[in-house]
Amino acid sequence: MAHLEIETGQPSPDVAADGVWLHCIECSEEVAPFADIVYRCPSCQGLLEVRYAELPGWSAFDGRGVWRYRDALPVDDGVSIQEGDTPLYHAPELAREVGVSTLAVKHEGMNPTGSFKDRGMTVGVAVARRLGVERLACASTGNTSAALAAYGARDGMPVLVLLPAGKVAAGKLAQAALHGARILEVDGNFDTCLDLVSELAERGEVYLLNSLNPYRLEGQKTIGLEMLEAFRERYGAIPDRVVLPVGNAGNTSALHKAFRELVAAGAIGPDDVPKLTGVQAAGAAPLVEAIEDGADSITRWNEVETIATAIRIGNPVNAPKAIPAIRETGGTAIAVEDEEITDAQRSLAERGIGVEPASAASLAGLRALREQGVVDASERVVCLTTGHLLKDPDAAAAAGVDPEPVSATTADVLELLAE
Ligand SMILES: *Cc1c(COP(=O)(O)O)cnc(C)c1O
Ligand SMILES: [Zn+2]
Repeated sequence: MAHLEIETGQPSPDVAADGVWLHCIECSEEVAPFADIVYRCPSCQGLLEVRYAELPGWSAFDGRGVWRYRDALPVDDGVSIQEGDTPLYHAPELAREVGVSTLAVKHEGMNPTGSFKDRGMTVGVAVARRLGVERLACASTGNTSAALAAYGARDGMPVLVLLPAGKVAAGKLAQAALHGARILEVDGNFDTCLDLVSELAERGEVYLLNSLNPYRLEGQKTIGLEMLEAFRERYGAIPDRVVLPVGNAGNTSALHKAFRELVAAGAIGPDDVPKLTGVQAAGAAPLVEAIEDGADSITRWNEVETIATAIRIGNPVNAPKAIPAIRETGGTAIAVEDEEITDAQRSLAERGIGVEPASAASLAGLRALREQGVVDASERVVCLTTGHLLKDPDAAAAAGVDPEPVSATTADVLELLAE
């Protein structure tokens, strides 16, 4: 798939700005950045990706967080709430239990608003500023709206969010509300919300910051850069595999782009690229279906259901990027049941790593793939956990132990403890 090779060098001078342009992954059309507001290729409606005249190697990176990687981003700085620089936890007991040689957990729940969406928003909102837009918007299963509400507030821009009514976890809704976004609850699922807000964006009513937006994915690309830097430092190697939950497949696409650009810059070898392994909930698994069927595109699922509301998505908009990402890196995709997700959420929590259900899908998927022998015992693996435990307090309380009522006397407390 030639269109996935990263090409550097200048396109026609009237297209690039500051060595940056947009490239259609389907027809290779080059589109000027920062000028007209475009989300898809004007010629063929294909997905766009950001391209650069020069790609930096490891030595170019300096500072902390997302903006450490400014030389690999479309703009040099932007509104920040100190996103990125998230921990990579060493997890030897989990590695033993799953049966792999190394397991590390990259916990994106440790971002300012509690999910990796902050990385995309710091860059996306900076570009929105440069474009001179007046109102930011997104459809969301919750975390995108929480992040956009916070970054919009920090930058003084109004934010509109469209959410599927009754399907957004309490923590996420509370964040969007307190940061002052205008919240529309739609009688429909996430995919319907995205259809609606895309229509508003096409009409010029709002600037869209869903992961269809190629600039947002550049911010999320820094997960891959940071993960490889930290893994190299700790283990002296590049991980063999990265396992991550898949909703709209933005992260899958963004990680692949990070790896391709590192290869193009000579920072890692082409054979070092980790196998991208996507995990979906069994009730919302169109990408897994496409990978299993060997298809080049997904078939939209109109009915989706899972406890992992962050990945309750039936029409992953970035599938045209993510399917080649999984295939080209030699990875795979797997669906897991809600019970497996909850088990994995408990396993992580028992090791002090508190994540929301969607995040635990990564560990659940790794477990299943190891049992099937798809993942080898010798592998060094990173599981990406995308959101914090407190995002979905109801799911956490349901998965955890029950509080025991006791009367307010030492004798009764001692009696209970002795049982
Ligand atoms: C957004 C989100 C996902 C899905 O990520 P995609 O890039 O859309 O695949 C997974 N987990 C959490 C917690 C999220 O907020
Ligand atoms: Zn095109």
